[in-house]
Amino acid sequence: MSTNRTTRRGARLALAAAITVAAALTAPPSQAAPATDGRPLPGAPGLGDPLFPLDGNGGYRVDRYYLDFDWQAPKTPFEAATTIRATSTQALSRFNLDFAGNTLHAVTVDGARAGASREGDELTVTPKSPIRKGSSFTVKVTYTADPAQTRHRDDAIEDYGWIPTPDGTVVYPQPNGARMIFPSDDHPSRRAPVTFRISTPADRTAVANGKLVSRVEVPGGRVRWTYDSEQPLSTQLVQLAVGKFRLVESEGPGGLPLRDVVPEALVEPTAEYRKLTPDHLAWLEERLGPYPFHRYGVLVGDTDLGVALETQTLSLVPKADLLGTKVDAERNLVHELTHQWFGNSVALESWSDLWVSEGHARFYERLYSEAHGGDSLEAAMKTAYAAHDQWRKDFGAPAEPTEPNLFKRMRYDGSALVLYALRERVGDATFQKIERAWVSGFKGRTASTRDFVDLASQVAGEDLEGFLRPWLYGAKTPPMPGHPDWVVDPVT
Ligand SMILES: [Zn+2]
Repeated sequence: MSTNRTTRRGARLALAAAITVAAALTAPPSQAAPATDGRPLPGAPGLGDPLFPLDGNGGYRVDRYYLDFDWQAPKTPFEAATTIRATSTQALSRFNLDFAGNTLHAVTVDGARAGASREGDELTVTPKSPIRKGSSFTVKVTYTADPAQTRHRDDAIEDYGWIPTPDGTVVYPQPNGARMIFPSDDHPSRRAPVTFRISTPADRTAVANGKLVSRVEVPGGRVRWTYDSEQPLSTQLVQLAVGKFRLVESEGPGGLPLRDVVPEALVEPTAEYRKLTPDHLAWLEERLGPYPFHRYGVLVGDTDLGVALETQTLSLVPKADLLGTKVDAERNLVHELTHQWFGNSVALESWSDLWVSEGHARFYERLYSEAHGGDSLEAAMKTAYAAHDQWRKDFGAPAEPTEPNLFKRMRYDGSALVLYALRERVGDATFQKIERAWVSGFKGRTASTRDFVDLASQVAGEDLEGFLRPWLYGAKTPPMPGHPDWVVDPVT
């Protein structure tokens, strides 16, 4: 979305007012429905995200997903149904869902068979009769799910979609792989609660975001697991996993329920580092305020894919991260936990805002590590500073990614460096106030780079547009406040 390029809005509003205004500006584009004079028109096939224009959909908002999975065995196709309760934001002749692969069986709208056609990742649904603006409707899609379906990116994501394990599956939906798992409104700015109903053989355990609502034995020697995400979440943060798991329960600060999900053979070998979660929570809460959800836990991934993912309330951490050194394990654990505030509770408005979420996750990961046996933050930032012009050339400026370079190093250390520069500029006390205002003011909402610049300016009591813009968008790395001796290496 193009709000990053508009001129700065009037400053010096009270903080609360600023947040209200910012929130109004961050409404996803599809909510500004076209003027149709009540005449039904097709919903937009995408939200127009600059990096992934067809991701997400226009003309409606999802109120809740109900995901039914009749899981059978690793890498084995199974029957699935997704039921979506939605509200139209315009009069709709037809509308789209994001859906990739799998074998589609049927689509109904309010119980009546609907037309369905597929092109690329777009599933276009034509209801029997048009949907009036502002009405609530129910879409049901039945399909055979392919739990071996993955895609690949040449950046920190690597493989995404369904990732098989020896006795089950985990999922990596980021950035836009949820559509391989269920038909959805697949963009990080679009959030809805999810009810999961997963049936498995009796010797497996299913888990998902949020809380276990029920575990019921069903005919055929199977078990049905129902989970409720409790809070809305972006599709990229969905987790559902099946395997021979042990659920390890404990408590975090203030009695926060903790639930790790661990393959049997990995319970003991990973216990030492998993037990550090309460310390990590306490350390982050001291800086950021209360943890934003009702529960947390670590899902230990029995997979060779060495990528961790901040799936909401249940971070997926590959076993290798928990079987190495303590310093490395804590960096990964704190990184994913930090995302629960940055990227999960405060969601991305567009993919160009990814630097906010990854930059913060890396910044707190390094800040924690420095105080717990790891490298110094300053040394790491000096190294990132030296490479920053090269990264700008290779991967785009922090807030100016392109689709292929989205999850490259600039979004991690390169974006933590922007936050470091901001802290050097405004001082630690003001920086901490900005951080707290961000996670409390935008809790449970989407926010953009524009919002971050505006909020930082409000809290600091000075216009930081001129300072932050070159850091976020410029071709050349600005001088580092407080470190006139730091130099940027020449670009090759
Ligand atoms: Zn991250």
